[in-house]
Amino acid sequence: MTYDLLLKGGTLIDAAAGLHAAKDVAFTGGRVSAVGDDLSRTQARTVIDCAGRIVSPGMIDLHVHVFWGVSHFGIEPDPHCVARGVTTAVDAGSAGADTFPGFRKYVIDVSATRLFAQLNISSQGMLTREIGELDNLKHASVSKAIATVEQHRDVILGVKVRLTRHTIVGEAAGIRPLHLAREAADAVGLPIMVHPQDAWCESLDDILAVMRGRDILTHCYHGMPHGILNPDGTVRRSVHDAMERGVIFDVGHGAGSFKWDVAEAALKQGVQPQTISSDLHVYNVHGPVYDLATTVSKFLHLGFSLEDALRKVTATPAEVIRMSGDIGTLRVGAWGDAVVFDLQEGRFELMDSHGQTRVGRQRLVPATIVRSGKVYQTR
Ligand SMILES: [Zn+2]
Repeated sequence: MTYDLLLKGGTLIDAAAGLHAAKDVAFTGGRVSAVGDDLSRTQARTVIDCAGRIVSPGMIDLHVHVFWGVSHFGIEPDPHCVARGVTTAVDAGSAGADTFPGFRKYVIDVSATRLFAQLNISSQGMLTREIGELDNLKHASVSKAIATVEQHRDVILGVKVRLTRHTIVGEAAGIRPLHLAREAADAVGLPIMVHPQDAWCESLDDILAVMRGRDILTHCYHGMPHGILNPDGTVRRSVHDAMERGVIFDVGHGAGSFKWDVAEAALKQGVQPQTISSDLHVYNVHGPVYDLATTVSKFLHLGFSLEDALRKVTATPAEVIRMSGDIGTLRVGAWGDAVVFDLQEGRFELMDSHGQTRVGRQRLVPATIVRSGKVYQTR
């Protein structure tokens, strides 16, 4: 037997490899071992018939919350990430320096979903609903964040800061946490990831002024104050400038952070997100987010081609986290993570975070997941 697993007869969409064609994909020893027009069934231990289906690299979700049982946002990663086609996910700040060792030992190191993290500049991370993680500036420790990154550099990708006034950041702390996150990230040579809604400053311009290439602005289509649009609906000059500098604009749908009207206005002006992420957590996993595939389906409704929408959950996020070649592609030699989708046609109600719905005509539904070259079985 040459192959452990063969995905036979599907349509492969691999943006990183520039492929959208009928191709078979084979896996051996946990990696992609062959991509071809007619790979031999008899050479494979297991064959999955993918006729009529889409074969994609495993999806990468740059914004989830999976510190179950510790952060009030936390869901379990495997039922909601890998079982739903997300073979790699980044937890966006559920843990801070004081809670990161537990997050690593009990979640990152033992999950079937390949996990990375953005470290919250708040040392406690996102523990309780009642008290914001930056209610008191004492919770933000640059030195502890630096020490934690140094110790866990293999899994920490950057420093996360959430800026919403009152509920997350106390008045006395103001906009300081943004600068503390910047200071910690600069000290360790990593980017920052910013949740900008309703911060203690005039507008998004003040936040973007602190952000550079590789930094991630998540919740880019949110409908709260400090959004990407001017009052007249045009995209702010500072947004165009930030994109030019290489700031990554990420969707981070969430329970309150994706508004159809904002997305539609921005896209009409040519302002696309670089990456599509879910911000999946306990307050949206039963709707309106459900999973990353549903979020991708919303972008099909917004007019993205299947290749472009899938690129933003495979090739581009892989580049953003500097793992191109290993994940986000099914080129020979890449890690064996894939998802086989049904592309369903029909009428699907798609709701944003403000209770507004649109009717989509297509929906991507994960059918079979491959993780490290083997079919992933849900428990
Ligand atoms: Zn989040």
